[in-house]
Amino acid sequence: MLKDSIKFILKNSIIFALVSFGFSMIGGLFPSSEHTSVIGNPLIVSSVTYEHVIGHIFWGAVIGLGTLSIRYITLGGSFAIFLDADHLLQFLDIELVSRMSHSIPFAIIVSIIFFIIVRGKDLRLCAVAFGAVLSHIAFDIFLADVAFMKATKFPLFAPFVLETVKFQGFDWLGIQIIGVVIVVVVSILYKRKEVGLKNNLTKT
Ligand SMILES: [Zn+2]
Repeated sequence: MLKDSIKFILKNSIIFALVSFGFSMIGGLFPSSEHTSVIGNPLIVSSVTYEHVIGHIFWGAVIGLGTLSIRYITLGGSFAIFLDADHLLQFLDIELVSRMSHSIPFAIIVSIIFFIIVRGKDLRLCAVAFGAVLSHIAFDIFLADVAFMKATKFPLFAPFVLETVKFQGFDWLGIQIIGVVIVVVVSILYKRKEVGLKNNLTKT
């Protein structure tokens, strides 16, 4: 049972990270402009700290709470940290649009990919993936505000619009709440369907 859960979490986390990394490659396709830059080694420029990693995992886990399932709570935390796989391309010192996966189109695409992989059978997985992206953005805003007292920007509609959107202060709270609500609603629908199926089975 535990082995199954670990397998489930690892498999889906790897898929999430690969999609994030793949999506970030789109950021390298754009011609040089004010939206692209050579960011440099993320380990040097992004100040990766314990607070950063733990914060992302915690914010992501909160997203999974609505499922009332340890598997999905863990997955929320794990997705949230693996989203940063979109920084890996920066190790190559190429000019690109940074933080590509910190965007709504990525959240939609990764949810659709999970929908296809599980053939529509587990909407909770899609909702947690979508919510984890929101939680990641929420924590980045929170950390920038609390630790550095500054706003932070994301290419929120990349790759369609490269203009970044700026967030600050308590903006993170609204974004986090939207993520939590999406997972709660989908989980309720899922439970209803499951109960419905069970009732049908006992009737026949
Ligand atoms: Zn990030």
